[in-house]
Amino acid sequence: MESSTVDNVRNFLMQERDEHRKFLERVGDQIHREPMHDTEWVRVTTLGCCREVGRASFILSTPESRILVDCGDKPGAEGEVPYLQIPEANPIADLDAVVLTHAHLDHSALLPLLFKYGYDGPVYTTQATRDLMGLLQLDYLDVAAKEGRTPPYESAMVREELKHTITVDYGNVTDIAPDIKLTLHNAGHILGSAVAHFHVGDGFHNVVFSGDIHHTDTRLFNGASNDFPRVESLIMESTYGRRNDYQTDQEDSERKVTELINDTYEQDGIVVIPAFAVGRSQELMLVLEEAMREDRLRTMPIYLDGMIREATAIHTAYPEFLRDGLRQRILHDDENPFLADQFQQVDGGQEMREDIAGGEPCIILSTSGMVTGGPIMSWLELLGNDPKNTLIFVGYQAQGTLGRRIQSGRREIPFSDRGSRSEQLTLRFDVESVSGFSGHADRNGLEDFVGTMNPRPERVLCVHGDESSTDQFSSGLYQKFNIRTQSPKNMETFRFD
Ligand SMILES: [Zn+2]
Ligand SMILES: [Zn+2]
Repeated sequence: MESSTVDNVRNFLMQERDEHRKFLERVGDQIHREPMHDTEWVRVTTLGCCREVGRASFILSTPESRILVDCGDKPGAEGEVPYLQIPEANPIADLDAVVLTHAHLDHSALLPLLFKYGYDGPVYTTQATRDLMGLLQLDYLDVAAKEGRTPPYESAMVREELKHTITVDYGNVTDIAPDIKLTLHNAGHILGSAVAHFHVGDGFHNVVFSGDIHHTDTRLFNGASNDFPRVESLIMESTYGRRNDYQTDQEDSERKVTELINDTYEQDGIVVIPAFAVGRSQELMLVLEEAMREDRLRTMPIYLDGMIREATAIHTAYPEFLRDGLRQRILHDDENPFLADQFQQVDGGQEMREDIAGGEPCIILSTSGMVTGGPIMSWLELLGNDPKNTLIFVGYQAQGTLGRRIQSGRREIPFSDRGSRSEQLTLRFDVESVSGFSGHADRNGLEDFVGTMNPRPERVLCVHGDESSTDQFSSGLYQKFNIRTQSPKNMETFRFD
């Protein structure tokens, strides 16, 4: 399997080794100085991701330090970026540290922009997230260029960010400011994803940012950890926070997907599945590979389009982040499910896509996961008007994305024909949604994560969800556990003391 991106990142960091060592020394001096102020308060300021999904970004501040947690974009709304201009975030050059929960673009896309604004400090994250964010950010620039948009930063800023990244392992306590210690814990969401725990002052206050979580075990990962020495305040994702946001269990979901694919195969059709390069793609690859091996699914090629193969290679490079059984299989090349013969990369561009679309029944996994750009747009054009074919949504579709519109029944979609000419495309294929593959906990999982948290937090801010999700989840948590909860707006500041 190709692992060029992993190698590229590693080779690049090798060359920068001496500079990185000097950087670590400088950061160390900054952190290990005596605090100049007493810890009298902790504040969290929301720069995005409130009553919406996207542009995750928060400031955690004390009298001594300012930390930025995540800096993402908003899928389907390119202009809507985190409110980095507000006083709490400035000057950006003076931030003490940046912490990244995981590589998805709604958390990481705009992180390189900080370096364009003069930030010169560390980015703390896991090793797997470092490699994945580099891959996804470069792809983000590539997709923007192909669609004629001006990206907010150049690839040189991605390299700056990689040079400034300090990787931390799950469970290791790291000083990131004179008065703040960071510990990352498994979030069960995607490779390298983390729940971030901040210990502020000398036992003054503890704040946890959930990032995106999956609370139960999946094929890829163990469920999110929610066991901490102390926690008073929790900033909690609420993607599936509505009262009726329950997902079918994994077994039912897998059965439904294999049925849909077998039915499409019988009618000589092609199945196309929009998927994030990281997360659902690998989960589905495992499901499909096993189903074919066990003859529950007709054997046919599975084409991977977009950055899926490179993202999968990064999974193979970091087996320690995966579940036990899977980790063992990956260490033996002949058992590595990601290397199964069925998987084929679409590396021949549009011509290859046309051949595949005109050929035998097959399965296509293609980015982007919310149909906001990338090769999935070509697949809609090539496969969308044939009723034999099937489109299956397996991941969350955010408000404002084309994916959400198609999922809600829209069949006439505007389509620009690679030029200025704009055309309508009529979708005639079958559109299905299967919920149990999401990388996010459903309402039950979210409640469980908070309810079984040890110790249970005193206060929860519900973020990363549509307004109805954050509102309903916030009132649900209050009623069930009698915890102080809120559904903040963007650009609000909360003081904990
Ligand atoms: Zn995510
Ligand atoms: Zn997210």
